[in-house]
Amino acid sequence: MKSLSKSQYVRGNQCLKSLWLYRNRKDLQDPVDPFQQSIFHSGTAFGLLAMKRFAGGVLIHADHAHPEDALAQTADAVASGTKIIYEAAFLFEDVLVRADVVTKNDNGTWDLTEVKSATKMNDVYLLDVAVQRHVMSGAGFPVAHARVAHANPGYVRYGELDLDKLFVVVDVTEASEPALSEVPQRLGRMKVFADAPAAPEIGIGSHCANPYPCDFEGNCWAHVPEYSVFNLAYAKMETKLDLFNRGVQLVHQVNPDFDNLTDKRTIKQVQIARLGKPYVDLEAIGSFLNGLRYPIAHLDFETDNPVIPPYDGLKPYQQMPFQASVRVQQERGGPLTEYGYLGDGLEDPRRDLIGFLSEHVPEQGHVLAYYKSFEGGRLKELAQGPGVGNRGPQLLDMAARLVDLADPFSKNWYTHPGFKGKWSIKNVLPILVPTMTYAGLVIRDGTAAMAAYAELRDPKLDPARRAMLTEALKVYCGQDTMAMVKILEHLWAQVGVAA
Ligand code: SF4
Repeated sequence: MKSLSKSQYVRGNQCLKSLWLYRNRKDLQDPVDPFQQSIFHSGTAFGLLAMKRFAGGVLIHADHAHPEDALAQTADAVASGTKIIYEAAFLFEDVLVRADVVTKNDNGTWDLTEVKSATKMNDVYLLDVAVQRHVMSGAGFPVAHARVAHANPGYVRYGELDLDKLFVVVDVTEASEPALSEVPQRLGRMKVFADAPAAPEIGIGSHCANPYPCDFEGNCWAHVPEYSVFNLAYAKMETKLDLFNRGVQLVHQVNPDFDNLTDKRTIKQVQIARLGKPYVDLEAIGSFLNGLRYPIAHLDFETDNPVIPPYDGLKPYQQMPFQASVRVQQERGGPLTEYGYLGDGLEDPRRDLIGFLSEHVPEQGHVLAYYKSFEGGRLKELAQGPGVGNRGPQLLDMAARLVDLADPFSKNWYTHPGFKGKWSIKNVLPILVPTMTYAGLVIRDGTAAMAAYAELRDPKLDPARRAMLTEALKVYCGQDTMAMVKILEHLWAQVGVAA
């Protein structure tokens, strides 16, 4: 049989059908989206840094498409007395693993380190470690210690990266023993199914997202209709599956009196779907609108959150704002003034962003954000970050003046079957303002914006691509604040007032 890999072992533990599809019908795999792409990039960058953390080793260059070369290069490295090897390849009983870091001890045993670009341990990592221990030992490389090296969520960068502090190294020798003892039996089962003539009969369920989102959902979930019971917010997966398997597939088919719904927000969602028309609490919305103090600044940030903190004062995965759009309306119905800021990717964007906010967000009135805890969190971080000077209190004052434009939707004052149980701006806008769409934009969501900015951080980026991405980011962030303006206008119109 074609060998199994470490990642296939983890995949097979999650779902044997996924393993079969991956090996036999890769054409059915979902395309990689920008979010997944950014996770891959993070993992790669963190893995490269791990080689510096465990410095002095030799990298096995042969890639995953050339396992024979990788095995030969590993054998050469071992034969020449190399003590630390990165991406070493080992093969045992048709299972081939590439170990992130292996270190040879004086007594001939080896230590294994699995590198994860996460900020905490996860039991699923023990599966990776266990299959590597099994294969290494079987191939004649006994493992004395097994470790997981992950990012330290408490590390704050100042100056050069401190790799000893950035990486947390956890000894999992003992913790991985139970998973190790199960490897032969699990592998045996996987080998039966891996290349069987047909995929095993496995239905959809919570295993499709746990521990990792499966990349064959497009295939296995194709029969699930749009706005199905799986879109029920705050409902357990068992409840959704039970409904679906009983033939109650669409949200409006659910009977809130009999169908075992417990959360009142889920019940409300079902009631709205069954009603088939919007529900608007004019009193609550009127009170929200009448509480607004002009001038209003519509504010939106775009952020990046790399695992390796690029600048001072940042932790792994801390949200770093690199772009802002501000639209100011001095009085209701008055003209809007638009301001935008975008970092160039080459320097810390927060320093100039602080100046931008300080200059363009009015000192009076409300600051409107859609999901204000995000913008508020960034303002508070900026107020304590590098380059803030004496503008910290001004930024904190902006945070204190934030009003959440999502409130009418998240608090169910305004619901619509077309929101499909969600209240993100991307769900609400097309229903309230059908003329406004993100469809034709090069960048259509925050994840794509993050990926675009990650590209801008590469000093060698082709100038034409840099110019294109810069323009696309400006358009996208400006669209978000314009969407807020239009949603606010719509709310005013609901209560009979022109905005
Ligand atoms: S989508 Fe679900 S059922 Fe289909 S392969 Fe993935 S985990 Fe298995």
